[in-house]
Amino acid sequence: MVSTEELDLIPPTDPSLNQPAEEVKADEIASPDVQGLIGRMVALAMGKGYSKQDSRQMVGLAAPQIGCRKRIIIVDVAADGSLKVQSLRVFINPRITRRTSKTVPGREGCWSCGNICGNVERAQSITLEALDHNGKPIKLELTDFTARIAQHEIDHLDGIRFPDRIPEGHPEKLHWVKPKEFEAYREQWRTWPHLCSRQQWLDMKSNGLLDKAVDIAIKD
Ligand SMILES: [Zn+2]
Repeated sequence: MVSTEELDLIPPTDPSLNQPAEEVKADEIASPDVQGLIGRMVALAMGKGYSKQDSRQMVGLAAPQIGCRKRIIIVDVAADGSLKVQSLRVFINPRITRRTSKTVPGREGCWSCGNICGNVERAQSITLEALDHNGKPIKLELTDFTARIAQHEIDHLDGIRFPDRIPEGHPEKLHWVKPKEFEAYREQWRTWPHLCSRQQWLDMKSNGLLDKAVDIAIKD
C-alpha cells in the first residue's frame, strides 16, 4: 500500500470503481493501514469541502474512490445540501438493515463520475448498521439527504455508481454539469437541459472514454 498521504481520488475511468470492496476484518481495524486510510479519507473530505477553488462539499466518500477496495465510507451526517460545518462519521462494513419502500428523487453528483450529475430515486429513510473507527458497533436512522448519501456511498462498495441506478428509458435524468454550473444545478436539476445518454455513461464505464467524452459533450 502507498503511504496514506499519497492517497487521492482515482480517475473516474479507473475500472476498479466497478468492482466490489472487501469487508474489513475486526482485528484489522486498529492497524496503521486502516487507521491511516480513515485519516486520509477524513482529511480529503474536509479539504475538498472547504477549498476556495471548489465550493462543492464532500458530503461522503468511499474508500474505493481513493483506490482502496475496503468497505469503509464517510458520511457527513449533518449534511443538508448547503455549505456548513461538517459532521463526518466513519462507517466500517456498513449495512442497510431497513429501508422504506417510499423512494424520493434527488440530485446527485460524484467525485468519481467527472462532470456527470443526475436525478436518482433513493429510499427516503434507512437504518444503517456498521462499526465505527474503533470497531464499536453503531446503528442509526438516516432520512432524506443523509440517507441518500449513505446509499450512494455504500453503492461504491459494491462497484455501483449513481448513473447505474437510473433505469433505462429516462434520458432526462442524467446530465452534464460543468464545475461552474454547480450552483445553478442545485436549483435547476429537475429540468437540466444538457443530457448525458445512458450509452455515453456505459461507454465511459467500460472503456475509459470519460475524459474524451467530457471534452466533447461540454464544449461551449
Ligand atoms: Zn460517489
